[in-house]
Amino acid sequence: MSKSLQAIRGMNDILPEQTPLWRYFEGTVARLLDNYGYKQIRMPIVEFTELFKRSIGEVTDIVEKEMYTFEDRNGDSLTLRPEGTAACVRAVLEHGITGGGQVQKLWYVGPMFRHERPQKGRYRQFHQVGVEVFNLDGPDIDAELILLTWRLWGELGIRDAVKLELNSLGTSEARARYRAALVDYLSSRLSELDEDSQRRLKTNPLRVLDTKNADTQAVLVDAPKLVDYLDEESRVHFEGLKARLDAAGIPYVINPKLVRGLDYYSKTVFEWVTDKLGAQGTVCAGGRYDGLVEQMGGKPTPGVGFAMGIERLILMLETLDQIPEEIARQVDVYLCAFGEAAELAALALSERVRDQLPNLRLQINAGAGSFKSQFKKADKSGALFALILGEDELAQQVVGVKPLRGQGEQQTIAWDALSEHLATCVVQD
Ligand code: ATP
Ligand code: MG
Repeated sequence: MSKSLQAIRGMNDILPEQTPLWRYFEGTVARLLDNYGYKQIRMPIVEFTELFKRSIGEVTDIVEKEMYTFEDRNGDSLTLRPEGTAACVRAVLEHGITGGGQVQKLWYVGPMFRHERPQKGRYRQFHQVGVEVFNLDGPDIDAELILLTWRLWGELGIRDAVKLELNSLGTSEARARYRAALVDYLSSRLSELDEDSQRRLKTNPLRVLDTKNADTQAVLVDAPKLVDYLDEESRVHFEGLKARLDAAGIPYVINPKLVRGLDYYSKTVFEWVTDKLGAQGTVCAGGRYDGLVEQMGGKPTPGVGFAMGIERLILMLETLDQIPEEIARQVDVYLCAFGEAAELAALALSERVRDQLPNLRLQINAGAGSFKSQFKKADKSGALFALILGEDELAQQVVGVKPLRGQGEQQTIAWDALSEHLATCVVQD
């Protein structure tokens, strides 16, 4: 027998019972971003490998070991996007939409691909909502990004379970001075570092700060602090951001070890973290990348953005039981018809109702069936009401409207009055 086909490890189907929650999440985010004046952009899922090497950085975890890279039929090296910022920068440059200092406030949503060890909250295909802002260099826009995520957590009912961590990485010059001091210090205690950190010390020393190894963490306690090496401009920027967050009443903690896994950040970096998801605790992360556009061949263009992991946020909604009741119900009314003639009338009637109530979720019974079996299906659909159209109703041009969730008695309503009746008794989103 042939081996049964399966999805690729770490790549998940999102099944029909889960999609309402995804759509609720994505809809909430989209509405919020619309309201703050952000515009959606859609990029391809595959790009030239070179794009990610140049932007994310050759010695980052992502580029070193997490990318899905393959040769196209014509020999080009292509990569399934591991994140969205690089492609977004490529797109705005290619289309010249950030030229002349034009401000762009953009967002995107979609799958990302990283060859990591799959576990709860960590997958090989996962989904992000990303936001990128170009040509605004002040802390006000950093603050706006944080504010809108804070609002999102509020709307989703998970605000109490997330914490904002902030740091400033300074300009690349400041970071270079700090990197030298850190390398000096860590080199003097090399033997106490874990193997991975010893390797990183040579390739990407700032990432040592990010270690999960307890021994290395102990060594880091006395390490030089990035904040002591900040240049004046970055320091003022960071103070400006903190002042705005204070004014808006958004709590945060400064985490001097927050460096982020991508090379292109400068000045502000932030993460929203939770202790509800075990090891995969970061639900949203971002920062400023003022040098990236220039590094990718554009004019100097300040940029700042973030990405949130949809799977982790969905897990949080489930863990915290913050799934709105309305989204579970996908049918408002279920129309049962008995007999050929009633079925024909039911189709015409339901189309008329749909014309009049375009938002009504009306499911019409398919596959005929006895009274009992159709009622069972109506009930299982989650509908608030069953509409009943049998021989008697057909003769009188009426339908029975039977409440399925204990809201009063069955009523008989004339076809002509059905839409009006449903409009009053079915709560619509
Ligand atoms: P982590 O430290 O958890 O590996 P990261 O720093 O690699 O995260 P980013 O590249 O900043 O993550 O991506 C932003 C967000 O995307 C993360 O905060 C997380 O919520 C989500 N994310 C990243 N990688 C994965 C993954 N493999 N599976 C699910 N979500 C992910
Ligand atoms: Mg990662």
